[in-house]
Amino acid sequence: MRKLLFQSLFRLPLTEPAPLPDDAALRELATAVGDVARRRLGRSLSIREVDAGSCNGCELEIHALSNAYYDVERFGLRFVASPRHADVLMVTGPVTKNMREALLRTYDATPNPKWVVAVGDCARDGGCFAGSYAVVGGVSEVIPVDLHISGCPPAPLAMLRGLLALLEHVDSATVAP
Ligand code: SF4
Repeated sequence: MRKLLFQSLFRLPLTEPAPLPDDAALRELATAVGDVARRRLGRSLSIREVDAGSCNGCELEIHALSNAYYDVERFGLRFVASPRHADVLMVTGPVTKNMREALLRTYDATPNPKWVVAVGDCARDGGCFAGSYAVVGGVSEVIPVDLHISGCPPAPLAMLRGLLALLEHVDSATVAP
């Protein structure tokens, strides 16, 4: 025991060093998403995350967008608690039969114009859960999807790239007040 305590006093931490906070790619992407949102919508982009049955791997990456490193709120992207305040629904997971109705209600409760982003391989076509008796399938089996972001799970930067592509292709006529 004494040996262990002694060793722990001098052993270096096993964790990897944190990435630098001024990551250029992150800053560039997140700023671009925030700017395009303000140009197209006239305000910040509000996102509601919906877990339709995922393993939570995709949620971990989505939550990372709000952590101290990514902190996308400083660029004008907000995660909101209600679909009534959302512009974008980010949906993860294969849609389970138990979540089908909840996903439909969430979609109906989101005001127009709205966009749906299916995040992760499971959201595309059921992924590794496809064919399960408990699963309906990909998100597009239940609601219309505007963009798929592949990956298992996709990295936060891939999600920002997807949001940017989505906003850049949004027809400005569809967001006119
Ligand atoms: S895509 Fe991968 S991480 Fe995301 S819900 Fe499916 S299995 Fe989990």
